[in-house]
Amino acid sequence: MTITSQSQQDAWTLFLEYVGERCSSTEFTNWIEPIRKVALHEDRVVLEVPNIFVQEYLLDNYKEDLTSFLPLTAQGEPSIEFLIAEQIRQVLPVEEKKVPFVDEMPQGSFSLNPLYRFDTFIEGPSNQFVKSAALGVAARPGKSYNPLFIHGGVGLGKTHLLHAIGHHLREHHPRLRIYCITTEGFINDLVDNLRNKTLDKMKRFYRSLDVLLVDDIQFLQNRLNFEEEFSNTFEALIHQNKQIIITSDKPPGQLNLSERLIARMEWGLVANVGIPDLETRVAILQYKAEQRGLRLSQKVAFFIAEHIYHNVRQLEGAVNRLNAYCKIRNLDVTEETVETSLGELFQGPTCKKISVESILRSVSLIFNVKISDLTGGTRAKGVAFPRQVAMYMAKELINDSVMKIAAAFGGKTHSTLLHAWKKISGQLAKDELLRKQIDMAKRSLEA
Ligand code: ADP
Ligand code: MG
Repeated sequence: MTITSQSQQDAWTLFLEYVGERCSSTEFTNWIEPIRKVALHEDRVVLEVPNIFVQEYLLDNYKEDLTSFLPLTAQGEPSIEFLIAEQIRQVLPVEEKKVPFVDEMPQGSFSLNPLYRFDTFIEGPSNQFVKSAALGVAARPGKSYNPLFIHGGVGLGKTHLLHAIGHHLREHHPRLRIYCITTEGFINDLVDNLRNKTLDKMKRFYRSLDVLLVDDIQFLQNRLNFEEEFSNTFEALIHQNKQIIITSDKPPGQLNLSERLIARMEWGLVANVGIPDLETRVAILQYKAEQRGLRLSQKVAFFIAEHIYHNVRQLEGAVNRLNAYCKIRNLDVTEETVETSLGELFQGPTCKKISVESILRSVSLIFNVKISDLTGGTRAKGVAFPRQVAMYMAKELINDSVMKIAAAFGGKTHSTLLHAWKKISGQLAKDELLRKQIDMAKRSLEA
């Protein structure tokens, strides 16, 4: 039932006023102003946003504040129905604006997130290399590393760097035909074009690009038919020196894709985005806080960074939560407010400190071997393999030097550790059982 009650009409306007006083004017213009209120119902508000990023931005930054203004769902969340303008236009192609970049772009296209730029990417030892590779490609597309393959865990900035390359290219090489797509978007494109018998058109489109940015290539695994079409596109572009940049949650060798495609992806440069160290986490926290108009002392930033260290997305979540908590209650940011507002994030399972000891404990449980055997020298096959698994997990999960980690395995050398890591990484791509065992071991770490 649609209502026009004054109180609800005011709710959105009041929210806008509230936010307007709390964020910078650039932030307001970029993110809040483009939101259009479509309808007010008793139980929900319908908002039109230009793209998914604006929706995510609103929810990431103002969810808690919104609960004070808007109707709530049964779960206590702000009850908002989002309409995405890009999608509406695709369904109803009325008076479409001719923006050159979007023109002729097939369905899966998405705009670049305006926040993901090089100048908003905080550098540290864990990402310096990959950032300079990304800058190199953005400066001389098709002429430096091709393809550039960026891999790393969730929330470490892969998409951020991919879009940063996109922005840089659009600003510095406006003539180039650039296209940024998620692997899922590519697959959807392909499905649509097959259905509409327009595959040739799609092929022509992709092959006419100068730069192709592909996010999350791991979703191409086990999609045989799509893999072939992707490989063809890939090769056609590479052979014309057109730049390709790919992101993935694993290095090429660990992806379950054809050997040919893996080899092609390893042709250029493979660069890893790692977990940021303490100082970088502090810098990221301070930057994200500043963007939101929140003052974080050095001491408080260190306090948070010491407790949240898995990925940058979690750091961002912490800043948002702290921001909402303190602004709604009009409190200063102190260690105390941090404890009360973020306490559960700190104790959350993913934030528990993982040690070689805890990994040994869970591997010994899953593989049914003694911990003392895992750290001892026995080469019995039943022990050597789980030991390698434990080494693999330690290298993946512990943010410490390889030498130190190796030493914790009863004084092994770093080359033994690297050898184990390589062997298990390679096997993981093919061995479903091993994947499950490692997943189980990881879960028992968190228990
Ligand atoms: P991924 O694609 O690797 O899962 P994203 O690129 O989506 O991760 O990053 C998650 C969030 O963390 C984004 O909001 C991004 O802007 C932010 N982020 C990641 N790394 C950095 C960094 N080095 N500096 C600033 N923000 C970062
Ligand atoms: Mg991503």
